[in-house]
Amino acid sequence: MILNQHPSGRHFLQIPGPSPVPDRILRAISLPTIDHRGPEFGVLGLKLLAGLQQVFQTRHPVIIYPASGTGAWEAALVNTLSAGDAVLMFETGHFASLWQKLALRLGLQPEFIGDSGLDASGIPLSWRRGVQADQIEARLRADSAHRIKAVCVVHNETSTGVTSDIAAVRRAIDAAGHPALLMVDTISGLARADYRHDDWGVDVTVSGSQKGLMLPPGISFNAVSPKALEAAKTATLPRAFWAWDEILAMNQTGYWPYTPSTNLLYGLAEALDMLLTQGLPQVFARHQRWAEGVRCAVRAWGLQIQCADAAVYSPVLTGVVLPAGIDADRVRKTIHERFDLSLGTGLGRVRGRMFRIGHLGDCNDLTLLAALAGCEMGLQLSGVPLAGSGVQAAMAHFASHPAAATIPV
Ligand code: PLP
Repeated sequence: MILNQHPSGRHFLQIPGPSPVPDRILRAISLPTIDHRGPEFGVLGLKLLAGLQQVFQTRHPVIIYPASGTGAWEAALVNTLSAGDAVLMFETGHFASLWQKLALRLGLQPEFIGDSGLDASGIPLSWRRGVQADQIEARLRADSAHRIKAVCVVHNETSTGVTSDIAAVRRAIDAAGHPALLMVDTISGLARADYRHDDWGVDVTVSGSQKGLMLPPGISFNAVSPKALEAAKTATLPRAFWAWDEILAMNQTGYWPYTPSTNLLYGLAEALDMLLTQGLPQVFARHQRWAEGVRCAVRAWGLQIQCADAAVYSPVLTGVVLPAGIDADRVRKTIHERFDLSLGTGLGRVRGRMFRIGHLGDCNDLTLLAALAGCEMGLQLSGVPLAGSGVQAAMAHFASHPAAATIPV
C-alpha cells in the first residue's frame, strides 16, 4: 500500500483520468474471481458486450482488451492497415502526437496536419482548438489516387480539454468522396461526452476504462464497423494478440481466447448498470454543467482556458493556462503537497505552461468546489495574480443551475 502522508480524509484525484472510482464499482471489483471458462462467466460476457454497444451507440461489435488505451490504439491500426499505408492524422495535442508516433513505429506513413505555429501565449495553435474538418477535406480531395487509407483523430484531447466534432470529420470525408477509414480515439470522452459510433460513421473507435467508465486502468476497447471488419480481411500488419477475428468468434458465447480481466469486468458490469440506469443524455448534461462551473472559476481567476473555441470545450476536463513566467508544475506541486489534490500536468508541448482539472468519475458539486478551493489557495500561495474568486463564481453557477438528476453515476 502506498503511504498516505495525509492524516485524514480522501485524496482529491482531479486528473483527467484515471478518475475517482465510485465505491459501488470498487466493491464489485472485490468479489471473488470466477472461472473464466465456466457458465456464469459466459452470461457476464454477453451482458457486457451488449451494454458496451449501448455506450458506444453502435449495433456492431465492441472488442474488449486486457490492456491500457495504448494497446487499443495499436489494435485499431494493426487490424486494418498494411505496412507503408498512408494515414492522415490531426495534431490536436499530446495524445494525437503519441498515436502518430505509434503509427510510425508500426511502419505506417502518418501525415500529421494542423497548425503547429504558436499563439501570443506561446501555446501551439492546434492545441487550442479541435480538428479542422475543412483541412481534412482539402487533403483528401488532393489525394485522388486514394493513397490515404485511414483518417485518425482524437475526440476528447485529454492534454488540452478540447472535444472535436467527429460528425464534421465524417462529413468532410464524404464530401471529398474518399474511401479512407475513420478511426477515432475517445479514450477520455466515452460515457461523459456524447459519442455516436454508428451515426457518425466511425470505423474504429478506441476507448479505455479509466476515464468516463469510472474503472481503474487496465481494459480498453475497439468498436468496429462492418467496413473495418472488411478491411481486416486484407490488412497485413502483423497481429496475434490484437487480432479481432479470434476474439469476435469466442465473444459469440461470451468468452475470450485468453484470460480476461475478470474482476475489472465485474466493475465494468457495475459501471454499465449505473450509466444505463441514469441514461446517457443525463450523464452528458451533468458533465456539461460541471465543466461550465469550472470554466466560470477559471474566468473569475482571470486565467485563460486552454481551449480557445467555446464550441469544442470538453465536458471532461478543463486546461488552465498560467501567465508566462509561472511554472505550472510548481503550482501543481504546491497544491498537491498542501492540499492532497492531484491535478493533471501539462503534457508535451505545453509542459509547465498549464495544468488540467478533471471533472469526471466519482464527483459532485461539493467535491468539485473543494477541488477549486484547493486550486485557488495553491495559485495564491504560488504568487499567481488572481482577478477574483473562482470558487465564488463556481458556487454561483452551481446554485443557479440546479442539477437535472441526483443519481450519483
Ligand atoms: N488517448 C487519450 C486521449 C488518452 O487520454 C490516453 C491516456 O490518458 C491515451 C490515449 C493512452 O491511454 P493509456 O495511457 O491508457 O495507454
